[in-house]
Amino acid sequence: MESTQRLRRGFQKRIQSWGTRNPRDFPFRRTQDPYRILVSEILLRRTTARAVSAIYTDFFARFPSIEALDQARVAEIAKVIRSLGIRRRARDLRVIARIICRDFGGKIPTSLGNLMAFPGVGGYIAGCVVAFHTGKSIPLVDSNIERIFSRFFGLPNSSKAARVSRLYAEVMPPKGLRQYHYALIDLAHEVCKPLNPRCMTCPLNDFCVLGQTLLKRASTTWVSTPITYRPRATQLFGLSKNLSTAIFANR
Ligand code: SF4
Repeated sequence: MESTQRLRRGFQKRIQSWGTRNPRDFPFRRTQDPYRILVSEILLRRTTARAVSAIYTDFFARFPSIEALDQARVAEIAKVIRSLGIRRRARDLRVIARIICRDFGGKIPTSLGNLMAFPGVGGYIAGCVVAFHTGKSIPLVDSNIERIFSRFFGLPNSSKAARVSRLYAEVMPPKGLRQYHYALIDLAHEVCKPLNPRCMTCPLNDFCVLGQTLLKRASTTWVSTPITYRPRATQLFGLSKNLSTAIFANR
């Protein structure tokens, strides 16, 4: 129990401290408006933060409210978000605006169930809207978070999402989830990259199951190029009940 608490505190502290030292600023991270949060999270799905930032001002100048979005034609919305490349999102946004204006009096719902009934809105987007607007701490798990947590705790490649969600809940702070979550997303983007994690500079490296494996390998092997990590070539052999110890090996 004590080691779990130490692990939790250590994880939180390092993420918060790294986030403070490595801030990334995007316009959608500054707003408290649930309409803007909902639209931004829908646009961010399978799109880079930079691409969404580039159209953010234009989008909300053209559609400043959910009512304005409801009044728009799908073709108009598609034109504004054309650079993001996924046309179906324009239709989804229009449908969502129509439902919110018709069934919720133009107010963005703050219940996960209501939000997840909208087209294109899954648990992650719904969670972001509720957590960022209301300040509630809710586990927010996307592929970036899955990557960090599965590497850190040495989880197997299958059945990750539910387990990661439980672990996220274990290490999330009671307050300030939004900044904490952004720090995790930024760490996944800048350090815990999909193919070449930069474990040497990672704030989690002395706790991380995969990080320890890769750093040990680097210390015993002469390498002139970054270590390449291939996700499918790894397997969890064991994990202790308190999640503080894991055995992670290459196949
Ligand atoms: S130590 Fe390496 S694998 Fe672990 S979280 Fe950091 S970058 Fe990712």
